[in-house]
Parts: sequence; C-alpha cells; structure tokens
Amino acid sequence: MPKVKSEKKSREHTARVKQGVCFNTQVGQHILKNPLVVKTMLEKAALRPTDTVLEIGPGTGNMTVKILENVKKVVACEIDPRLAAELQKRVQGTPMQRKLQLMVGDVLKVEQLPFFDICVANLPYQISSPIVFKLLLHRPFFRCAVLMFQREFAHRLVAKPGDKLYCRLSVNTQLLARVDLLMKVGKNNFKPPPKVESNVVRIEPKNPPPAINFTEWDGLVRIGFLRKNKTLGAAFKNNSVLEMLEKNYRIHCSLTNETLPEDFSLKDMINELLQKNGFSDKRARTMDMDDFLALLHLFNSNGIHFA
Ligand code: SAH
Repeated sequence: MPKVKSEKKSREHTARVKQGVCFNTQVGQHILKNPLVVKTMLEKAALRPTDTVLEIGPGTGNMTVKILENVKKVVACEIDPRLAAELQKRVQGTPMQRKLQLMVGDVLKVEQLPFFDICVANLPYQISSPIVFKLLLHRPFFRCAVLMFQREFAHRLVAKPGDKLYCRLSVNTQLLARVDLLMKVGKNNFKPPPKVESNVVRIEPKNPPPAINFTEWDGLVRIGFLRKNKTLGAAFKNNSVLEMLEKNYRIHCSLTNETLPEDFSLKDMINELLQKNGFSDKRARTMDMDDFLALLHLFNSNGIHFA
C-alpha cells in the first residue's frame, strides 16, 4: 500500500513540474485551468474599461491577462515571488505590461490596500475569512468583489438564521454587504485539484455602511455564537464573558462619573435586561440582523460595551 501512495505522489509531482512551475498547495496554489470559469467570473464582475481591479493571488496569471484586456489597470498581489516573476514575464513586452502593477507579498500584511473599483480573485482558501473582512472594512468603497471560495465557506457567508451553517461569519458579512452565490465550481477545474469543491461568490459592500461600531457589534456576535445553540441567558453567565464586560462597564462608569454600589453585580444587571426585553430565551442560531441590532442597542444604551 505505501508503495502505491508514493508512486501517486511522484506522478503528481511530475505533473506539476511539467507545467514549468511547481505549485505549492501549502499556500493554496490551485490554478484555474478552465477558461470558462474565468470568463464567467469576469462577466459577473461587470468590468468597465475605466476600472482598477485588485486581484489577490494571481498565480501564473490565467485570470490576470483576461482582466487586463478589459480594464484600465490591475493591481495584483502575489505572495510567491516565483509566480510573480512568471506573470511579469507573461506580460513583458505586451501592451498589458504598463497596465499591471504587481505587489509581491502577503496581502494580509498590506496595511492599506491601493484604490480599486472591483476585486476579482481565485483566493487561497487559507485566508478566506481575514480577506473578507479586510475587504469589507476597506475604504474608499469598491463596487463589488467576485471571489472563489471553498464551498462550505461560501455557504456560511450566505447562511440565514436557522440554517445549519449560520454563524458569526454570516452575521458579520451580511451586516456589511449583500452576498450572493454565483456558481458552483468542481475540483477538476483546478490544477492540481483541491480536496474540496468551490463556489464563486459576489460581495457588494453596503454603501453607506450601517451606522454602528463594528468592533462592538462583533464583540456581541462573538459571545452569542460561542455556543450558538445556547440561550443568551446562558451565554451571558459565562465567567470570562462577564469578566470582560465588567471591566468595560467599570471604565464606562468612571468616564461618566458614576459610582457603583458595593454589592453591584453586572451578572444580575444583564440577566434582568435580557429577561425584561425578551432576549433570555433567544439563541444566536435563530437571531436575525435586527435581533442583534436591537440587543446591541439595549446593551449600549445601558452602558454595557463589548469593546
Ligand atoms: N488566481 C490564480 C491562482 C490561484 S491559486 C488562478 O486562478 O489561476 C492562489 C494564489 O494565491 C497562489 O498563486 C498563491 O501563491 C497566492 N497566495 C496565497 N496566499 C497569499 C497571500 N497571503 N497573499 C497573496 N497571495 C497569496
């Protein structure tokens, strides 16, 4: 048995070497080999000739060259210098060369992404979640992002209250953006094929954004989803949660010059607030955006802060 495995491994290795570059699946290098998928992604992005496009992880540039044909400028951020060099070689001496700005490095470490109208990417799956929030908190606003994700992650992004995959990611994303599943993409459209199926998703930031403090919001949602099947009543009895909230509450009180009675208990105060306002028996897994907004407002207006 081990022999078969190692033979298979060496076959895969040869296959990769044959393409000229060796793909490193550790950093999510799965090149899109089906031109139809690339074409559909770009159609869905509705590119305009005046657009600046941000591409994350251009790899060898299969998608990049197609984008370059349709827009004013592409800024592409690639972590692997070998692939960045391949891409540079690919456009060298063509009219595309001056439209392409290559950034070599980890996109997550880029403090301020350059201006872009549209983001298009077949992303490394390892960075799905941080990149979604990096994009959604990016200013100025962009029109939309058309991104490839692992199928389950894509389903989490669009999950609604009560769905099995409804989670903190769903709530946070849908607070800041409209999200749609565009198409399913099977593993065989990639080289080498990944272990999981994929989906293309369209993310359109809500502009103007909801007038709330996202850090506060996320702090509340995080507590709700620590155990999403638990009631809020139970979630807010957790000691480390209460400790954090009490620290914030004492800061709030000292800023507003309020003195707390000796026997003050934040646990009781929260319990009473939840009871009185009908939240005690609610569970994060069935709460919608308005429920979370109402709950955040209730807490904040009583001096309870999550950040
Ligand atoms: N878009 C190309 C390649 C997709 S593979 C295509 O569809 O053919 C994903 C690419 O993302 C790889 O080139 C990988 O090196 C790159 N990558 C992985 N992590 C990255 C990061 N943190 N920042 C920028 N690029 C990254």
